Amino acid sequence: MTRTIALLGSTGSIGRQTLEVARELGLGVAALTANSSVDLIEAQAREFSPRLAVLYDADAANELRRRLADTDVEVLSGMDGLLAAATVDEADTVVTAVVGMIGLRPTLAAIERKKRIALANKETLVCAGALVMDAADKYGAELVPVDSEHSAIFQCLQGCRDRSEIKRLILTCSGGPFYGLSFDELAGKTRADALRHPNWTMGAKITVDSATLMNKGLEIIEAMRLYRLPLSKVAAVIHRQSIVHSLVEFRDGALLAQLGTPDMKLPIRYAMTYPYRAPSPAEPLDLLSCPPLTFAEPDEHTFRCLRIARTCAEAGGTSCAIMNGANEVAVYAFLRERIGFNDIPALVQAALDETPQVSNPALSDILEADRLARESVRARIR
Ligand code: MG
Repeated sequence: MTRTIALLGSTGSIGRQTLEVARELGLGVAALTANSSVDLIEAQAREFSPRLAVLYDADAANELRRRLADTDVEVLSGMDGLLAAATVDEADTVVTAVVGMIGLRPTLAAIERKKRIALANKETLVCAGALVMDAADKYGAELVPVDSEHSAIFQCLQGCRDRSEIKRLILTCSGGPFYGLSFDELAGKTRADALRHPNWTMGAKITVDSATLMNKGLEIIEAMRLYRLPLSKVAAVIHRQSIVHSLVEFRDGALLAQLGTPDMKLPIRYAMTYPYRAPSPAEPLDLLSCPPLTFAEPDEHTFRCLRIARTCAEAGGTSCAIMNGANEVAVYAFLRERIGFNDIPALVQAALDETPQVSNPALSDILEADRLARESVRARIR
């Protein structure tokens, strides 16, 4: 079946690659959303003729509406626009490629409409994993991960009938641009240093998260939520080559892995075609010319964000939402060169220390924890 997608976050790295896949597979596109990139979303809307185009920013949406006046595309803005895009009737699949907590409400709305969720917004699962997974079960919505590690695990679990057969999920981690450095050596690292990722081309926020290893921390929590496993069953190993995208260790001692070149279009394509596989124009991995595969223990003393994430994963409640909200604000401050690299874990830890925690949180508790955490970091930066 050829799917019709609503693409939330169409101008970011995952969004643009999703549209390449859409072009390649001939997918329908019913809705596009972005924050404020008028030029790019206008071009995308002219090519894919969605019913809806949404810019979160109201002024940018007005400009887009003016520019698309000669088309049938309806232009909306704000959270109402995002929710309309997530629930648009024509789409059977919603790709959640927005960055950050803003993806949560649209994801829940799409689940209630029983859409397939191609999940590329890890913050949603990190902050509100139980709510999202319970909603997916209740409404019978399929959740297919797009994050490369989780897609690898998802692929390795095809044919696994009983989750108790899983001994461990092993997420691989490139180690980022600062692998091998000490905590003190990280102190002077700049925005430009952090944005130089060795293997993957990604958006700025996730690239900084990859440099701090917060990204792996978020992914550990994402895996725990997606597969309903305790922290003791989710491990991370450094794998500099980014060829093994993750593994599943089963109770009989078998390890299954998914390997390939680092190319996000593979997990995106799989999320569109699952349970089938479509031909790809990309060159496959050549085993005979690929570098030797190495694995190592992550250094949680240097990369404190990973340790913080594991502590929050164990604590549960609103701690992951606090950590995530604080991290988002700290990373954007680092990208604007307002704070240093090692201030990121310090600010996240401070927010965790001063924000009250709630166990078994409802959506309102999660949103409030997120708000307080952001406020904590902003106040400290001021
Ligand atoms: Mg990933």
